[in-house]
Amino acid sequence: MGSNASKSGVLADILKRERATGFQDRTVIGGLDRFVQRWSDELGPLLGDLTSYSKLTPRQREGWAASALDRLSGQSVSHVESAEPTRIAAGRPKRRLLSKEDSLDRLPRVGGQTLTKLKRMGLERVGDLLYLFPNRHNDFAKITKISQLRPGEQYTIVATVWEASQTGTGPRRRSTQAVLGDDTGNVRAIWFNQAWIARALRTGTEVVVSGKVGVFRGQPVFQSPEYEPLEGQEELLHTGRLVPVYPSTERLAQRTLRRTVKRALDACLDQVVELLPDEMRRRIGLTSLQEAIAQAHYPDSMQTWNAARRRLAFNELLLMQLAILRRKSAWQEEGRGPVIEIDRSTIRRFLESLDFELTGAQVRSLDEILEDLSRDAPMGRLLQGDVGSGKTVVGVAAQLAAVIGGFQTALMVPTEILAEQHFINVTGLLAGSGGAPEGELVVKYEVPSLGRPVTVGLLLGSLSKRAKEEMHERIAAGEIDIVIGTHALIQAGVDMPRLGLVVVDEQHRFGVMQRGALRDKGERPHLLAMSATPIPRSLALTLYGDLDISVIDQLPAGRLPIRTRWVEVSRREAAYEFVRREVAAGRQAFVVCPLVEESEAIQSRAAVEEHDRLSTAVFPDLSLGLLHGRMALGEKERVMEMFKGGEIDVLVSTPVVEVGIDVPNATVMLIDGAERFGLAQLHQFRGRVGRGAHQSYCLLLTDAAGDDARERLKIVERVGDGFRLAEEDLRLRGPGDRMGTRQSGLPDLRAARPTDQDILRLARREAARVLDADPGLDGEEYRLLGEAFRAYAADLTDEAS
Ligand code: ADP
Ligand code: MG
Repeated sequence: MGSNASKSGVLADILKRERATGFQDRTVIGGLDRFVQRWSDELGPLLGDLTSYSKLTPRQREGWAASALDRLSGQSVSHVESAEPTRIAAGRPKRRLLSKEDSLDRLPRVGGQTLTKLKRMGLERVGDLLYLFPNRHNDFAKITKISQLRPGEQYTIVATVWEASQTGTGPRRRSTQAVLGDDTGNVRAIWFNQAWIARALRTGTEVVVSGKVGVFRGQPVFQSPEYEPLEGQEELLHTGRLVPVYPSTERLAQRTLRRTVKRALDACLDQVVELLPDEMRRRIGLTSLQEAIAQAHYPDSMQTWNAARRRLAFNELLLMQLAILRRKSAWQEEGRGPVIEIDRSTIRRFLESLDFELTGAQVRSLDEILEDLSRDAPMGRLLQGDVGSGKTVVGVAAQLAAVIGGFQTALMVPTEILAEQHFINVTGLLAGSGGAPEGELVVKYEVPSLGRPVTVGLLLGSLSKRAKEEMHERIAAGEIDIVIGTHALIQAGVDMPRLGLVVVDEQHRFGVMQRGALRDKGERPHLLAMSATPIPRSLALTLYGDLDISVIDQLPAGRLPIRTRWVEVSRREAAYEFVRREVAAGRQAFVVCPLVEESEAIQSRAAVEEHDRLSTAVFPDLSLGLLHGRMALGEKERVMEMFKGGEIDVLVSTPVVEVGIDVPNATVMLIDGAERFGLAQLHQFRGRVGRGAHQSYCLLLTDAAGDDARERLKIVERVGDGFRLAEEDLRLRGPGDRMGTRQSGLPDLRAARPTDQDILRLARREAARVLDADPGLDGEEYRLLGEAFRAYAADLTDEAS
């Protein structure tokens, strides 16, 4: 940057960039005047009548820039179009010493703690850093003069360090204080507990400082701002631009993350391969992958960031939709499903044996299912319905239909506790049709029209080896018609010779790909997935794109809406008093113990202690029961029977009651430590009451004074409908939160958000188009996409197993 020619080249570049960005005077750090002043000798006559660019309106700037560009092009210096990048016009230095496949410790200054922490964040190779997308950006792009600073806002200044020193008293409160100045005035900056910064800010040098301005003794002061020396800087990373804020679960400093990610970008962004065919990219107007990754980290503007995020989201959703659509078509085309002849009269008799009548929505859903079962294409159907909408009975009726039609069925749930509870529920429903338990793990019911009993078996991992083997043998011999267990157990080599229908309850707790694995077992059984936690409809397409959907959108008749209130721990006694009053009125109550994160043993012990405390100190005159995960199955059944029979007034329990207990006379659900549960889980608990004719209540006992927790509980208070609650949950989590999607069983989405409906539709359309053209994804056009897809699918299968 030594000659006049290159200076005027830079000026031309700056002016073009100004034109592209609307003459905001943002191209040069500190403003164009700064650049002009410094090089006024060289630029001289090219500047025309300019006195101060910053004082011109954008319109005036435009006029002046046009004439300056005229002068520049008239000047016969050979101005090279892509002038050498300077620290002013952002340039990307090319350091290609590293490969994206290299391990992280090949990066300079990555070792020890930093390396360990990065690894704990799931990062292994240099290339992984490219996909560590920021949660958000701080907008530090606009440079402000010191005289313009106002407390309470965020600013960026370019200033000279007049003074920087360590301050504070005592060894632990060593801070840095600095005085910074520009041509309009001085301002103080203070960094608490960061004494080393004093050394980084050398007197007389120029720095860029970005951050929040507060007040100290009536004067504006920067409080722990980001800072960066201007001298010798190729590009600003922490200030003076849109600055990335990375997810840092391991407490890595943002400066470290920015520096490290930037190194990785510089070293291997150009190794990233575009996986979309040009034609597709151009047709739907997506930025290139390299550009998208660059802009996702260090965007030129929020517009370019947004374009980048859409491009990256499209990538993720496209791969996902390819996986879903391929599975759907493989399923439908290859397989001839078991054709089940439906014996309507037996189903009708079963339904008549129940002590309630199905709702219209249940009847409709059951019809859709039975219709599917009788066809030769294997069913893939999701049964969606709010807590308490009565999915179980629909699932049982479908299983009964399959059994009568000559097949075995499996009911899979995510945990052993749920398996036990389902066993109790299912056998309870069948009991009405007249049967008697044979033993603890196998129950037989006479079904007159079948001419033989229907046998239900419970398969638990905690069974003795011998009992398990015996169960396996009986299943393999076709003696057990309905097998209930966890999916791991049923999948692990249990031979079911006549498997015709698989029912998966609590579907949302299984991963997307696990569902595929379940179905790939044995023959091609029909699949019925049930989801107790309704997911927002906006997510359904993403998650269940390969399934047809039946919705139970109606609660059984006569149910009163449950009244939900949150109660501060200081009013714990009032909550207990409420329980006492309901019991006095003949009702019953649940008390759910606070969630302890650790083992089930610890959780169970906590429940035992709480039960002791409540029965001696709080409700000595009432009959209390206890339910926890460590109890034997028989014992649990006995307690539930007693609660159902009214012998127990208050059932104290670990969070295992979440699913499956059904006591219409229970009207109070008291959840202790409510803030520790997710919205969906609270809704599940609440669903345990309100099942009878009496008004029911849900009390959320909490000591969380935090605003977040309070807002969440208020939403549970206000919103009674599970679907709407799920939408609220999603909204509350906000775009940056990945938990929401992970909990729903989605593969990790880094750029896409559950609310990206338009991108999702686009991805689905394009995936269908691609598979139409090249079902195997192995032609030349889709070679790179195919490779990426195969890597993606392999990852998913790993996760599922
Ligand atoms: P979920 O959909 O949450 O799994 P369940 O299947 O556990 O709901 O049903 C909740 C309760 O409602 C159970 O006690 C069940 O016996 C009862 N139930 C189901 N359908 C009806 C109905 N149509 N009328 C009355 N009660 C019903
Ligand atoms: Mg259920």
